[in-house]
Amino acid sequence: MFYKEVNLKKRGEMIAFLKKHFRYHTMNSWNRSTSYANNIKLYNIDMPVDIDQDRFWEMLGIIDWQEKLSDLLEDFGRSHNWLWQAGINGRSGGYVVLYQGGIKPSGYKSYCTHCDQKNYQLVPEGQKGICGRCNAKERVNFKQPHMQVFTLPGKDVDMDGDFHGWELFQLRDRVELVQEFDMLCDSIVEAFIETCRNYRIVEEEILVPKTVKTLEPV
Ligand SMILES: [Zn+2]
Repeated sequence: MFYKEVNLKKRGEMIAFLKKHFRYHTMNSWNRSTSYANNIKLYNIDMPVDIDQDRFWEMLGIIDWQEKLSDLLEDFGRSHNWLWQAGINGRSGGYVVLYQGGIKPSGYKSYCTHCDQKNYQLVPEGQKGICGRCNAKERVNFKQPHMQVFTLPGKDVDMDGDFHGWELFQLRDRVELVQEFDMLCDSIVEAFIETCRNYRIVEEEILVPKTVKTLEPV
């Protein structure tokens, strides 16, 4: 649906593809920056006839679907070393947007093998430290520097639309990136339709732990 073939030997065709591609805000409308995007709002999707409208709307709020969606977005980011990331934007989350970003050291030096809590302090060589969260003496140093993904949400992508000085290989790289992004958006829509088809939504009562204050004689 979103993916389009482009002749990667034709400069003009590649530029036209990039210039005509749908764009959306990377943050909000008053921060003016935009990037390549796709509108995955339901009215924009050819909805299969066997799926009823209510199901479609309801599924959006279901945690299982949201987890599936973030897996798809994460796979895209990981395959681009996080230099390029896909994120959801728009008031109703109706747009997938291409973002720039990267990875950097997080500053965490150690972690608890029991509960996974991270810590900025190093543990002395050959020892184990106490975890600040669960109190287990299971805190050990990271063997590799611990890295953190960051996103540059205010940074536009090709907003000026000026590809004049671009070499052919640069254009090709950019077109391929946007095509991959479009394919990701196609898989998001496909996964969504498949989820609607194969699962029904059941209501479940869950117990939420709650802290209450009581009085106790002193
Ligand atoms: Zn712990």
